Amino acid sequence: MLAHPAHHDIRIDRDRLWSRLTELGEIGAVHGPNGEQGCNRLALTDADRDGRDLVVARMRDLGLTVTIDSIGNVVATRAGTDSDGAPVMTGSHIDTVRTGGRFDGNLGVLAGLEVLESLEQHGVTTRRPIQVAVFTGEEGARFAPDMLGSLVYVGGLALEEALDAQAMDDGARLGDELVRIGYAGPTPCPAPPPFAFVELHIEQGPVLEEHGITIGVVTGVQGISWTEVTITGRSAHAGTTPMRMRRDPVVPAAKIAIEARRLAIEMAGAQVATVGRIEVFPNLINVVAQSVTFDLDLRNTDERLLQQAEAHMTAFVRTVCEQQDCSFDTRALARFEPVSFAAEMIERVERIAGALGNSTLRMPSGAGHDAQMLARVCPTSMIFVPSVNGLSHNIAEFTGPDDVAAGANVLLHTMLELADS
Ligand SMILES: [Zn+2]
Repeated sequence: MLAHPAHHDIRIDRDRLWSRLTELGEIGAVHGPNGEQGCNRLALTDADRDGRDLVVARMRDLGLTVTIDSIGNVVATRAGTDSDGAPVMTGSHIDTVRTGGRFDGNLGVLAGLEVLESLEQHGVTTRRPIQVAVFTGEEGARFAPDMLGSLVYVGGLALEEALDAQAMDDGARLGDELVRIGYAGPTPCPAPPPFAFVELHIEQGPVLEEHGITIGVVTGVQGISWTEVTITGRSAHAGTTPMRMRRDPVVPAAKIAIEARRLAIEMAGAQVATVGRIEVFPNLINVVAQSVTFDLDLRNTDERLLQQAEAHMTAFVRTVCEQQDCSFDTRALARFEPVSFAAEMIERVERIAGALGNSTLRMPSGAGHDAQMLARVCPTSMIFVPSVNGLSHNIAEFTGPDDVAAGANVLLHTMLELADS
């Protein structure tokens, strides 16, 4: 049942939330050959600024107090009746990967604002303040590590170190980009912890759709290990250099990508492994490469197994580079241990989702989220809604309006309950 009988019947406005998603999706829009519309809104680019401006304008329209902190996180606050109460927070991110979708992150922010607009419309006051956050640079597609803004927010990464992060595409300094787009704010970061945090997000995988379930009750987040590997050989003429004399770094790089996949399949369970970025230098058809730089992404819900996978790949990189007479260098880009959400928050989301008539399934998250950073400082949970064909980080990413609304209603009642507790 819903613990809040007075506001039992309140629902968010499905069409209004959908139109907000459509509106934000126009900023940085990219189009596919079959009519798909995705999003290219890399962190702290002009498109990110335009998206932020739109969201901040909506926040101001709602009469919310808006703060921007020193890492560019935007937080909107709706006051509660208890001025001393720690706020209940929701939120997510609006940066996307280069070929991203319109729902990843955007849904969590806009559904949070929809919750506040619905409370306003129904004249509901809450004891605790409610906040909606837009965290900087969640995707890690331009600045590493991922979830950077929320990590700094909870004190997990020093502000100065984060401001010095360099863009992978153009080498720009994060702090300079914040100033350039007008989002280097005056509010101190890290910030005091909220009372609780709950994030609505698309699943970004196939599980809910496969099982015909509307609401995923997220129990935690997989651990993530990102390593950049650079293998150096010797650049040579592709026609005149005999095969036995080559030191070709593409060969070990390719073997490593294949081994990562083989290992993940062999380990099974929650283990996944990906090589998603490869850069070959000088990248010419008739030149044996001088060097290859690529990223290895390993994830598991079990820290011990994740460490096993890391150790295996480290040994494999060494062996295969030696075999090809190449040298190598590795650099840790990000490393986060698996996160378990608070049991009482998981139970709350599950109970409320069920009381609203949804089918539910408990599941871990395969992707990293801002919620896992907030989980370090306050009770946290997440609500997942289905992704059509399990697609995300893809311009064809889609979640239907009914599923979006179902998730937002679970968010609404979860926040209402927390805000009066
Ligand atoms: Zn996301």
